[in-house]
Amino acid sequence: MGFKAKARKHKSESGEETTTAKKSSPKVGEIPCGVKSCDGFADKSFGGRSLSIDNAIDVWGDSGYTERKGRVRVCKSCYRKWKKDNKSEDTY
Ligand SMILES: [Zn+2]
Repeated sequence: MGFKAKARKHKSESGEETTTAKKSSPKVGEIPCGVKSCDGFADKSFGGRSLSIDNAIDVWGDSGYTERKGRVRVCKSCYRKWKKDNKSEDTY
């Protein structure tokens, strides 16, 4: 004698999967980095900063940067480079 185990298979149809194509557009900035040898972006959303002309000259020389309205917009990595060279102005 045995007992019957009825394994009920409940068919659950998983509806159609909505595949939403994710648009992964690379971030493109609007403000180019002021350092000529750099092709980064100095937008705020990229962590860009603006330095004074004097500050830019200290690091990139007289003609190593592009001026924008009396300031030099630099990208995040250039700002870090500048900060490294200007440790006296460490403000945390
Ligand atoms: Zn840069």
